[in-house]
Amino acid sequence: MDATLVATLTTPPGDGLEAELEGVAWLEVRADLVGDLAPEPLRSRFSGKLLYTLRSRAEGGAWEGSPERRKRRLLDAAERFDLIDLECARDLVPDVRKAIPPEKRVISWHGPAFDLAGLKAVFEKMTAAEALLYKMVPTASQSGEEIPALLLLESLKRRDVAAFAAGPVGAWTRLVAPRLGAPVVYGALGGVPGAPGQIAIRRLCEDFGLPALPPVQRLFGVVGNPVLHSLSPRLHNAAYREMGLPFLYLPFHVESFGDFWLEVVESGLLEQVGMPLRGLSVTTPHKEAALAVAAAASPRAELIGAANTLVNQQEVWEAETTDPEGVVLPLLARGIDLAGRRAAVVGAGGAGRSAAEGLAVAGARVTLVNRTSERGQSAADHLKLPFIPLAEFQPSAFDLIVNATSLGRADGDPLPFAVDGLRPGTVVVDLVYKNGPTPLLRAAAARGLTVVDGREVLVYQALGQFRWMTGREMPVEPALRLVGLPEAPEDTR
Ligand code: NAP
Repeated sequence: MDATLVATLTTPPGDGLEAELEGVAWLEVRADLVGDLAPEPLRSRFSGKLLYTLRSRAEGGAWEGSPERRKRRLLDAAERFDLIDLECARDLVPDVRKAIPPEKRVISWHGPAFDLAGLKAVFEKMTAAEALLYKMVPTASQSGEEIPALLLLESLKRRDVAAFAAGPVGAWTRLVAPRLGAPVVYGALGGVPGAPGQIAIRRLCEDFGLPALPPVQRLFGVVGNPVLHSLSPRLHNAAYREMGLPFLYLPFHVESFGDFWLEVVESGLLEQVGMPLRGLSVTTPHKEAALAVAAAASPRAELIGAANTLVNQQEVWEAETTDPEGVVLPLLARGIDLAGRRAAVVGAGGAGRSAAEGLAVAGARVTLVNRTSERGQSAADHLKLPFIPLAEFQPSAFDLIVNATSLGRADGDPLPFAVDGLRPGTVVVDLVYKNGPTPLLRAAAARGLTVVDGREVLVYQALGQFRWMTGREMPVEPALRLVGLPEAPEDTR
């Protein structure tokens, strides 16, 4: 059975509403944020059910006012909307219960993280009133706090309860909950989420295949901070769908890798809900920690001192890094000869060390560049490469430059290095990726230089991860298309 997709409207609807609502069954009007919109104009643009929600400040919304005013707004809305969200802590008063029948009620609770017993106690109070749907949303601020919501679903085995955790840490539970019986999945309309960690409705469809709910026997995912912007779920889940693999790939926003490892991976709780975690992509800033927790590691991951992949092979977690090929393969695909090429890798974190190692093995003459000399020098010594502090870096002395700093991720970041003096024929690779080209790539392309987008790097490092996690090959052309790139890069030979 498909999930019922609920799109949350937090700002006045724009022109593209109809397209955004494709596949959506309910439209939730967050009246505390967008005001009391008239339902009639919405009905002319949307044929599904309209849900009215006046989320109170006490439960993470913006509504403040007297109980009497709140009651009046709910009762008014009940005459015009199909469904009304009632907060179990304040709305289940006799007048409201009398005017709003059970089949129109979504009874909700938003609160702090509780263990399973705590959530069950809340649930018992909620079910004192009948409803179409019970919605329970504890907020998870650290790894482990998001799991009791899933355990609750598993233990209740009902079709009228949606339980998942709010906050970026809990975002992945929104995707697992419908596999445990939760009938609805909420997603944000436009760019403004209705709650922290709420995923955009289009991403729910494009990256996670909702509303379809094919069986899931194994979980995979990407661990990082931040991670909700990651395109990896789109790539892996699309390939699972294409190949009919019963797997789901999730975004794990993780503050402390140690906590995540203990509470989510090693706790065995995902096995308990029938969906064991079998592999992880690892991104900034957890690559060093990922290597440290693995029971075995490839020589390449050991040398680089970072892992971007962890795979559970017969109950043993093994670490690998596919980051070097993420940089090298797009260059080879363009026919760029790396042998003897003067390459600079700017950034000496896990990504920079991987790029440097990959390019050096491919025959380039690599120099490592870093803002902090101590870290850069130590990484260069380890990889047996020369080092230059960023302050002394002369980009014009190189004909291949890789940005492996985090500069370019935030709007308004300066360029990691100046492109004015770069010579014709220089190739610029940016590991940072966005929806479109980064400012560094735009500046380099404007000078007529060959550029490699971080999204392409992402695709090429995902190929090895996918192979290692599933034993299958991810097809590269569809993957490039999925991240918004042309299928075949220009051959510069
Ligand atoms: P990391 O370990 O945190 O290293 C960050 C690097 O950025 C360090 O070299 C750091 O220099 C430098 N840096 C940070 N702020 C800077 C600033 N204001 N000026 C100059 N240098 C600065 O991160 P990582 O894992 O290596 O990843 C680096 C970037 O690559 C991230 O943006 C990540 O998203 C991206 N990445 C992309 C892909 C892909 O598939 N496209 C794959 C891997 C990584 P200090 O040592 O001086 O702090």
